[in-house]
Amino acid sequence: MHEGDPRRGAGSHMASHMKKSETEQDRWPPAYVFDLSGGRLCLDFVNTLSGSRARPTERLRSYDDLVSWGRQSGAITAPIAERLAAEARARPRDAARALDSAVRLREVMFRILAACADLRPADETDVAALNVALSEALPHQRLVKTPDGFEWGWVEDAEALGRIPWAAIRSAADLLTSPDLRRVRRCAGANCDWLFMDMSRNRTRRWCDMKGCGNRAKARRYYERHRARRGDAHAHG
Ligand SMILES: [Zn+2]
Repeated sequence: MHEGDPRRGAGSHMASHMKKSETEQDRWPPAYVFDLSGGRLCLDFVNTLSGSRARPTERLRSYDDLVSWGRQSGAITAPIAERLAAEARARPRDAARALDSAVRLREVMFRILAACADLRPADETDVAALNVALSEALPHQRLVKTPDGFEWGWVEDAEALGRIPWAAIRSAADLLTSPDLRRVRRCAGANCDWLFMDMSRNRTRRWCDMKGCGNRAKARRYYERHRARRGDAHAHG
């Protein structure tokens, strides 16, 4: 699904270009490094909103952020990322619209996948919206030759500003129709709505990652245990 290694160097053919491409070069490595620990591209896309849905921190605030996510996640190749960023500068209003619909689609995907994680039925309107997105994305899929055979890739069209979520849409459809759907979890962190694949043998993973939410939960439990042992939380305060 991924279009090659996103961490390979920035399109070096751009390096000798005018000022614009210098800005492009400056953008890599990126200012914000997206967390890609969801275990599926669609989950990494859904996790571009930090915090909870009630207290969100939006990580896709500009079309450039979306390009950056696409590139970091491997949803688009580095050359396509460069060309999309240039296209967005030339057509800012179209780029704003594309960002808007990507974010709306992300929330559709979140609601459907979170419902699955919570063992609730997904909303029909959301399923219909994802189906519309699928019907727009799938005609752009192509078979791409690899050394070992073939894989799914996408047309090269870099004028399609709406293309960044395509691979995530396909990834969501694959996950929703796979037995692995039962492994989708919602983080148990107090202020976190990230979704992830629980690939643990006992299917007992509760947090998006142990360093962040898992650690905070452990610290809280430790604090509460100690407080309980002291009997009175204020005695030493
Ligand atoms: Zn979390």
